[in-house]
Amino acid sequence: MLNNEEISANLADVREKIRLAAVKSGRNPEDIKLIAVSKTNPTDAIEAAAASGITVFGENKVQELNEKIDYFENKGCSYEWHLIGHLQTNKCKYIVGKTEMIHSVDSYKLASEINRIAEKNGVTVKILIEVNIGDEESKFGCRPENCENLIRQIALLNNIRICGLMCIAPFTENPENNRSFFRQMKDLSVDIERKNIDNVNMSELSMGMTGDYCVAIEEGATMVRVGTGIFGKRHYSL
Ligand SMILES: *Cc1c(COP(=O)(O)O)cnc(C)c1O
Repeated sequence: MLNNEEISANLADVREKIRLAAVKSGRNPEDIKLIAVSKTNPTDAIEAAAASGITVFGENKVQELNEKIDYFENKGCSYEWHLIGHLQTNKCKYIVGKTEMIHSVDSYKLASEINRIAEKNGVTVKILIEVNIGDEESKFGCRPENCENLIRQIALLNNIRICGLMCIAPFTENPENNRSFFRQMKDLSVDIERKNIDNVNMSELSMGMTGDYCVAIEEGATMVRVGTGIFGKRHYSL
């Protein structure tokens, strides 16, 4: 595990790269939200990041996310939590109402279950629609060509607020390889925004991970999800 100084140095480096990518593309660095992806990392690592001013964290598993939320709530720390990983319908009941945003909604079935529980709990849930932009068999997400239809259906659910799109671009050593995927995401988002669908807002674009977040920002990302670039390699044994 990285020590506090290393996590703090990584964060300074990531923040500077975000700033440079924003400036390079004529954007305000403050319009880009850094989500520190803390999955598989212990609460100590989260505390180290918090000591450097990070209060927004992303997790990809419901149980791990809940344990961390409970742990920090008990300590009186109010962090913002994002569920970024695939959500199974039968797990919605454990997470609805606890997160700032669910990034990974890719079917009407999942959305309507989130909505059902949100209604029961009297909350509104902010979500992003996950798009399988690389058309990869191994990945979740709706196909780009089905995205608008899916959004039109989900927009009718009263306790859900659609805030934008999310993607996990293909794994690559060279981030330039993903530039066209990020550009397609931005185009898709602009297209859908132009349709002026009731209850649909396309202001967020969650894309870019450790290997490609600078390119994602240049292409319009408003949220980047950085894990190993902050916390070092993951700890799957935890
Ligand atoms: C793990 C994960 C990340 C972070 O990946 P890194 O390459 O470590 O930055 C981002 N998004 C999702 C959906 C993830 O599951």
